[in-house]
Amino acid sequence: MLKTAAYAAFSPTTPLAPHTIERREPGPHDVQIDIRYCGVCHSDIHQVRDEWGGSIFPMVPGHEIVGTVVRVGNGAGKWKVGDIVGVGCFVDSCRECEACREGEEQYCAEGMTLTYNAYERDRKTPTFGGYSTRITVNEDYVLRIPAGLPLERTAPLLCAGITTYSPLRRFGVKAGDSVGVVGLGGLGHMGVKLARALGAKVTVLSHSQNKRGDALQLGADDFVATRDEKVFKKNAGRFDFLLDTVSARHDYNDYLNLLRRDGTMVLVGVPEPTALSAGSLIFGRRRLAGSLIGGIRETQEMLDFCAAHGVASDVEVIPIQGINEAYDRVVRSDVRYRFVVDIASLKKP
Ligand code: NAP
Ligand code: ZN
Ligand code: ZN
Repeated sequence: MLKTAAYAAFSPTTPLAPHTIERREPGPHDVQIDIRYCGVCHSDIHQVRDEWGGSIFPMVPGHEIVGTVVRVGNGAGKWKVGDIVGVGCFVDSCRECEACREGEEQYCAEGMTLTYNAYERDRKTPTFGGYSTRITVNEDYVLRIPAGLPLERTAPLLCAGITTYSPLRRFGVKAGDSVGVVGLGGLGHMGVKLARALGAKVTVLSHSQNKRGDALQLGADDFVATRDEKVFKKNAGRFDFLLDTVSARHDYNDYLNLLRRDGTMVLVGVPEPTALSAGSLIFGRRRLAGSLIGGIRETQEMLDFCAAHGVASDVEVIPIQGINEAYDRVVRSDVRYRFVVDIASLKKP
């Protein structure tokens, strides 16, 4: 076993603190990765604070991992020492169900193996995430980071990037479409960049005026502050597609009414439940859908797309010792636009 320095949550209400975990020695089909950077996703906070229930402690969060391959199992021929690689939200799946065979492992019928706050396929070995100095991962669940992308700005692509790229592609967003991105945080700012790269006209819908300048700088064509309720009437029927990234409770019906006929709103944010009125869908034959991260194949496609289009996350790099303060700032919507932990800070005594 490989003793590995990490930061962990020990309960939903106590700050994250230093911890030591054990990683497995790489088996024939594993690669061992020295982690360089790990992004901080709002899902880390939801799970640390047990907002979805069933959290497993101690928990080492982190599923936006980039690092360097340092050891390769005999049978893991795809990879070599020195490769720059990524690991996203899951590290295994059954490989046999329809979803797995179609490369949509995130919808595995047996449940994907989450990178942390879960158990390996043996159902008893806990998984630990990227707030740690190294990880051992099966070769098939590793992504290639294209050359030329700045590493700290690439880490957030492994969750925020793929979670926004996948629905934009799946629901056929194309050049000229009117796209609204609801919530300008980690996911939202990637949604803006990716929708723009696909040629869409992008509007940010944000709950205050604070991020107007940033939204336009990130590439949005327009900005709507939703605190003023009049904007919902004014923008009714405006959008072909809405990507809802908001992490806190809000009324979906208000947003559905912003869709034009046959428009689609996709939920990716996971707030507490809220009521849905049938009329919001019936009038205008609108669609409401959800989307969960993306499979390995599509995640690689997204990384290559980002490299080709020069798309990367806007980040604030922090030492791991700043993680608790960063969590509070994310919850206050005070993140510009993703915190990324420099894992070198974990190696210092
Ligand atoms: P984030 O950086 O905190 O962004 C969330 C945004 O929601 C905020 O920036 C803010 O945007 C808006 N918001 C927050 N509190 C609000 C409030 N009280 N009222 C109105 N708007 C509020 O979080 P993230 O990392 O992007 O994650 C967003 C959500 O997606 C989380 O629930 C996360 O768990 C979920 N998620 C889902 C998937 C998936 O596969 N579906 C993957 C990753 C994450 P404005 O300030 O612009 O309003
Ligand atoms: Zn995430
Ligand atoms: Zn499966």
